[in-house]
Amino acid sequence: MKALQYRTIGAAPEVVTVPDPEPGPGQVLLKVTAAGACHSDIAVMSQPAEHFRYALPLTLGHEGVGTVAALGAGVGGLAEGDGVAVYGPWGCGTCVKCAEGKENYCLRTEELGIRPPGLGAPGSMAEYLLVDDVRHLVPLGGLDPVAAVPLTDAGLTPYHAIKRALPKLVPGSSAVVIGTGGLGHVAIQLLRALTPARVIALDVSADKLRLAREVGAHETVPSDAQAAAAVRDLTGGLGSEVAFDFVGAQVTADLAATVVAVEGEISVVGIGGGAVPVGFGRLPFEVTVSSPYWGSRTELVEVLALARAGAVSVHTETFSLDEAPVAYQRLHDGRIDGRAVVLP
Ligand code: NAD
Ligand code: ZN
Ligand code: ZN
Repeated sequence: MKALQYRTIGAAPEVVTVPDPEPGPGQVLLKVTAAGACHSDIAVMSQPAEHFRYALPLTLGHEGVGTVAALGAGVGGLAEGDGVAVYGPWGCGTCVKCAEGKENYCLRTEELGIRPPGLGAPGSMAEYLLVDDVRHLVPLGGLDPVAAVPLTDAGLTPYHAIKRALPKLVPGSSAVVIGTGGLGHVAIQLLRALTPARVIALDVSADKLRLAREVGAHETVPSDAQAAAAVRDLTGGLGSEVAFDFVGAQVTADLAATVVAVEGEISVVGIGGGAVPVGFGRLPFEVTVSSPYWGSRTELVEVLALARAGAVSVHTETFSLDEAPVAYQRLHDGRIDGRAVVLP
């Protein structure tokens, strides 16, 4: 089969031919119908050799949707041809976090060498994807594969971050969304669907801000040196109850720390290496800082339900598998509006 692999540190990923995978006992083989490209893949491919954590070659893709092509021995509950979304943050399935469906916070992944598809295990940017356990699959329930695949990360991750901040997003509150790309433009829609908060979106790109307005942001602000003052003005000098940072660079972490209100929350979702200073006098009183990772299986079911109800609609640009290296180049250059989806 064809697969998109990151093979050489620092080089672009390549489309290569690899052996067709076969499902062993307990495994499920999917014919991939759609795979999403995430900025985290760019982060992986930007790591220098001394920090690189995965074995090469690495088949990319941690957002995946497919149809069941074959079931390994002993697998029940699904039939060939069923449309499913892949829950990506695989865990051990038995620790206390996994028992709650929070495999994103599995306590044993390091010890057992468990890696998500596309982030260690072979990923979804291929014609077929081997899934280790039926519990990693959620029925699509009629959702279109292209529309649904970004929900497995670009939807699930902001959903999880927003859900834990819901008690602060009461009527009269506001939420800042820094970075309105793949995750951010879904976050805006989730905030509109789940909260009465006024949504203030910030990005460095005018095109991304246009998309932010299209998908429901009440206010858009260029993310520049005047941004903090603009957010303060928009919030009557109080700041925002919650600031979601979907970039995570030092400049955006500093911005989040400047625009958050007393008793607010900063959610650092982006992995740009920035840090928010915590300590007395460093932030407004009683601000909570969190760095959430992905989401739970239950939350993926909830996000798919929201999409089925029409509350979120991902803006996508599609590419063939042969064009996938171009999709990643454009994502790297900030030239994807919404999410790039590859159709293997
Ligand atoms: P993306 O490239 O689609 O979007 C990033 C957006 O940030 C772009 O619109 C870009 O213009 C904007 N941006 C860049 N610099 C900015 C600045 N200084 N101020 C405001 N906006 C700025 O990326 P994505 O796929 O949405 O991922 C966003 C981040 O989240 C990445 O760091 C990614 O690695 C991370 N991520 C984290 C998790 C998690 O579980 N914590 C999950 C998925 C992705
Ligand atoms: Zn991701
Ligand atoms: Zn576990």
